[in-house]
Amino acid sequence: MSGNVNETKLVNFAMANKARRKIINFLANCDRGIEEIGGINGKETLDFHLKILQEAGLIELEERNVKLSEYGKNFLKGKKENATEEIKDLSQAKPVEIAEIRQLLPCIADSSKFRVIANMTPPLGGILKILEPIFPRGNYSDIKDSLIVKRGEIITTIFGSGKVSMRMIKNEDEAREELENLRNNINEAILKGVVPAPREKIRVELMDIYKYLPQTNCGKCDEQGCYSFAIKFMAGQVTLEKCTPLKEPKYAYNEEQLQFLAVYV
Ligand code: SF4
Repeated sequence: MSGNVNETKLVNFAMANKARRKIINFLANCDRGIEEIGGINGKETLDFHLKILQEAGLIELEERNVKLSEYGKNFLKGKKENATEEIKDLSQAKPVEIAEIRQLLPCIADSSKFRVIANMTPPLGGILKILEPIFPRGNYSDIKDSLIVKRGEIITTIFGSGKVSMRMIKNEDEAREELENLRNNINEAILKGVVPAPREKIRVELMDIYKYLPQTNCGKCDEQGCYSFAIKFMAGQVTLEKCTPLKEPKYAYNEEQLQFLAVYV
């Protein structure tokens, strides 16, 4: 594994699942038999998880034995070092409230949508930067002292001063719901007192989505075909639930991949 973008995506996908993280940790000290691994995680989905870990280059399979690859060992070692180095202390931070929606104005980019300005109290100030990793598509700017968070089409900017601006909103109800989610995510991290180490940013391309769709162009999603669906999905205009064929057992792997990638779209 050389660590290129596609390989990084495979590894991140593999490690995004709790059962697979458990398998990797179980292999940390010694090689294990397949039966032994089945004992900790259940046998039903074992082949599925092992295949994904193998594709990511994290494990090697030898007959009925499983072991960490050299890459898997280095990966696990790096994770441990980062985890101890980069967890940030939030114990002095206070839970926030998002006080009011002060304006609901037409969006410049799309006049059918709105932008809103709200106010967060107390202002997050210096801890705003620390919170970046709790948002999969969060980007902190030192210059502007702001954290930009993207979710679907919606773009939210939180400023250290407490100002919150949100763009591409459908209506006031959606604005309130988004602001409540934002507050809950921030407060959950503050109550825990720590945030995860900054994670690697994953750039999702249109073809990443298309390649995991069933590609039957069945039209059950009310789109012309899977490619059109992928375009709308990238724009945050449709959700994976609309592609009902993904629920068929034969697409379980594809669905999990897409669920994983969806967080970064
Ligand atoms: S429902 Fe799924 S498989 Fe069918 S066209 Fe839409 S995206 Fe493609």
